[in-house]
Amino acid sequence: MSTSHSISADNLCRWVDSLAGRFQVLGPVAAKRGQNVFAPIDNSAPLALDYCTTMLGPRFFIYPSVQRLCKIDRETNTYMAADPGPARTQLIFAIHPCDMHAISVLDRTFLGPNKDFYYAKRRQETYTVVLNCSRACDQGFCASMGTGPFLRLTEGFDVVMTALDGEYLLEAGSPRGQELIETAPGLQKTGRMRLYEKSRLEQQAAASFTKSLETEGLPELLMRTFEHPVYKEVADARCLGCSNCVLVCPTCFCYKMVDRVDFEAKIVERSRHWDACQDYWFAEVHDGNFRQPQQARLRQFMTHKLCTWVEQYGCFGCIGCGRCMTWCPTGIDITEMAKEIQRAPTRQLELG
Ligand code: SF4
Ligand code: SF4
Repeated sequence: MSTSHSISADNLCRWVDSLAGRFQVLGPVAAKRGQNVFAPIDNSAPLALDYCTTMLGPRFFIYPSVQRLCKIDRETNTYMAADPGPARTQLIFAIHPCDMHAISVLDRTFLGPNKDFYYAKRRQETYTVVLNCSRACDQGFCASMGTGPFLRLTEGFDVVMTALDGEYLLEAGSPRGQELIETAPGLQKTGRMRLYEKSRLEQQAAASFTKSLETEGLPELLMRTFEHPVYKEVADARCLGCSNCVLVCPTCFCYKMVDRVDFEAKIVERSRHWDACQDYWFAEVHDGNFRQPQQARLRQFMTHKLCTWVEQYGCFGCIGCGRCMTWCPTGIDITEMAKEIQRAPTRQLELG
């Protein structure tokens, strides 16, 4: 990481005001019923920098829930790839470290050997400015997953900020992030003392977590306990198959193709929509459904995030944001299910 600079809170606001003239800035703002959401802003006034979390992570701006892919005109026999956007280069401001990690997890899927043109274009045209967290959020366990409360990534982001006694430390994560910082007004070089305070704040934030998950040996344990009764018990008693958990999860990447044909069958428009493995139809193939019982779908969600993702992508698919359990209408918590398996790995289903 480059040299760090400090900036006053007032100058930070001025900086955001100037960035809004150059980019489509997206930042955390207050929404209804005490929630915060990431939304487009024209200046710094609506920013809620002390936000805890948002229902949807900022992945939405890089990987939208509905994306037009192409259009085929059968009369003229032409194929037109849709412009993936964004219409204007975007800058996501004050992303929490766990959500930045989530974007880096999505990068492994969409920018890997089978590079996704639509994702790649939006990702390239999105600047990312991270804000380190000074406290844990209620359901968060990012410290256990190695994704927070301070950013652990060394690349894949542009700037990381840390709030310190009414000032902000700014550190660049990329050359374009460095260029961005240089446009900020009233920058001061950061002394060693401030960096020491940053590390003290990080320890303080890490100590504020009330939720945790022991991840040592967890993928191997989950791999050998696929038949554990916790999946059936929780699915039968509480899982509605509503898919809230996967739709709010910032690392979920599955999508389905939707083709729309006009009335005269001349124009075909193809788009992709987020899909959800908790949906019964997700596993429907030509001759049946390979995950009929809800317990199989719940197990798929949990074991993919905490077990098979590691083999697939070399990291966990869970960044510990706590969204799935927050927005589950019956409060199903994958950390509690994992702990039940850790407590009693050989427990059998009680018939009665
Ligand atoms: S599985 Fe749950 S806690 Fe983990 S990243 Fe997804 S929504 Fe967040
Ligand atoms: S949000 Fe909860 S009830 Fe809905 S599918 Fe997910 S685990 Fe089941």
